[in-house]
Amino acid sequence: MLDRRRFLTLSSLAGLIPPLSFGLAKPAISTNKGNAPTPVPSITEPSANRPFVISTWNQPKANAAAQAALNKGGSALDAVEAGVKVPEADPEDMSVGYGGRPDRDGHVTLDACIMDEKGNAGSVTFLEHIKHPISVARAVMEKSPHVMLSGEGALAFALANGFKKESLLTPKAEKEWREWLKTAKYKPVANIERHDTIGMLAIDSKGNISGACTTSGLAYKMRGRVGDSPIIGAGLFVDNEFGGACATGLGELVMRTCGSFLVVELMRQGRTPQQACEEAALRIVKKQDFTDIQVGFLAVNKQGEYGAFSIQTGFNYTMTLNKVTQVIDAKSYLK
Ligand code: ASP
Repeated sequence: MLDRRRFLTLSSLAGLIPPLSFGLAKPAISTNKGNAPTPVPSITEPSANRPFVISTWNQPKANAAAQAALNKGGSALDAVEAGVKVPEADPEDMSVGYGGRPDRDGHVTLDACIMDEKGNAGSVTFLEHIKHPISVARAVMEKSPHVMLSGEGALAFALANGFKKESLLTPKAEKEWREWLKTAKYKPVANIERHDTIGMLAIDSKGNISGACTTSGLAYKMRGRVGDSPIIGAGLFVDNEFGGACATGLGELVMRTCGSFLVVELMRQGRTPQQACEEAALRIVKKQDFTDIQVGFLAVNKQGEYGAFSIQTGFNYTMTLNKVTQVIDAKSYLK
């Protein structure tokens, strides 16, 4: 695969990437010469594809929790919060919440965001000592006048809202970190192996879409580093008229391209979720050195159609529809 990566120089990309079809669906916005765009009415027909839950990586337990919330009559927002809390609490999941790999100084710092069908959003970045950053993000959205709180301020807000302060560094994560220190020369290394951020999108029985994204970020990152996952428009974006998207992988690349916003915006312009994910990933491939880095996008539209695409192989996602859960390998740019 490395040889192939080297072979795929940027100059050769134009010939290798199949052109995306831009004419498949009606554009969502029609423009009158010189006037403001005329919005096309949103899709309101009921869909068979609901309730629906989809999440990045292999997360059947998270999807089951989200599905259970929907079955109890919960909203898509309740579902995504309940769903991503599963890996947040799982010490064996070393990329999210409790048990997450620390930064290079040995501190577990968490990023998370949540977005509902009305376009409300909440986010926490660089949050320490709180097991469920997604619930703090929801509290920011619902109980504060802000969208994003960071670091000490986010922790103070969490404690004031009844969250418990606890140590998130498990013996297993600490042991791995100490091993890493022996050879790492104290440099943060962006890698494609140690990540598993969960981004989740759900459609409830009313057809409303919400999303959540939560992570401990890149393993052994520099202290203070914040990735794409808590950034609305980068790690997650929901536009209830058209769809939602989330991202995983090297956050720096997702942030530079406003990845999830781009995917949703492309769906708004008429792309299917699959086309939108591919186009957003290819935009990164065209502009950045993507050797040895991974970025994956996952998207769902208002009709419950979904798509996923990554730069490298190995990205999968978990889909739950009609009580059936499947883990599916995403298509990728590099085979
Ligand atoms: N996107 C996350 C970050 O950059 C990491 C990941 O998805 O693995 O923090």
